[in-house]
Amino acid sequence: QREAARRSFDGRGRTADGTRVELLANVADPAGAQAAIEASAEGVGLFRTEFCFLGRSTEPAVSEQVAAYRRVLAAFPRRKVVVRTLDAGADKPLPFVTSDGEPNPALGVRGLRTAATRPGVLDRQLQAIATAAEAENAEVWVMAPMVATAAETAEFVAACSRHGLKTAGVMIEVPAAALRSADVFAHAAFGSLGTNDLIQYTLAADRMLGELAALSTPWQPAVLDLVRLSCEGAAAHGRPMGVCGEAAADATLGPVLVGLGVRSLSMTPRALADVAAVLARVTLDECRELARLALAQDDPVEARNAVRDAIRPVL
Ligand code: PEP
Ligand code: MG
Repeated sequence: QREAARRSFDGRGRTADGTRVELLANVADPAGAQAAIEASAEGVGLFRTEFCFLGRSTEPAVSEQVAAYRRVLAAFPRRKVVVRTLDAGADKPLPFVTSDGEPNPALGVRGLRTAATRPGVLDRQLQAIATAAEAENAEVWVMAPMVATAAETAEFVAACSRHGLKTAGVMIEVPAAALRSADVFAHAAFGSLGTNDLIQYTLAADRMLGELAALSTPWQPAVLDLVRLSCEGAAAHGRPMGVCGEAAADATLGPVLVGLGVRSLSMTPRALADVAAVLARVTLDECRELARLALAQDDPVEARNAVRDAIRPVL
């Protein structure tokens, strides 16, 4: 049955009772955009723009950025592409944006925080994104990484608006933003849960450390609680919430995320068909029931087992 559903994935995600769940791809360069098209992704839920910056000693010119972004946007005419602004710092240091020698780079000046120390870099990137979006006639949504507060959100939205970028949102990957999500969504047009970092910061467990893999899972009750709170805050303002961390590719978790209020899942293209196949076999009410079941456990392994056993007939 699942195989049949997988073969029949037509690029429009939905539950068994027809609730739409956008199934999008994470893309990091033009080759990734091609892989997303081949896997029938509806659009891009996370375009990581770092490829244009990494391995360089100076900032790429606006014209160079425009050309690079256009090569990705061109693959998705009139379709949604969520472009994330530069996420430098921590595991992605950049000499012209971040400073060496921070004692705790994961807690340092990274992501949107670099906008305060290097404001011109964000400004020029937004200009390049706006120019590329117009040239390609793409439905571009812009989102900032590593947002912690409502004030940061408001500043980012204002900066986007100065460049004519009207759909500006934030990644929810810092627990503070999840806990005060209603404040954040008073400003942001949409949210996307970056579960890789959200798990790291919730469990205080370095995402790069294999020894901590048992701790670092989206099935942790504390992480699921933060997903629930994030969705509630977004819903209070009528804002859509997605997931773009690795957790979106976990087909068993998909119905739980939808039950918590998530309406778009962005993942590596090769996971799309599996996630679509499971979602197509559960109703929204069943998703909500599975979310309650997961939240009722006090242990991630038990949460995963309980959900897996409940949906085993469709797996
Ligand atoms: C995340 O943190 O979940 C995410 C999608 O961003 P990145 O992995 O690039 O930090
Ligand atoms: Mg992140």
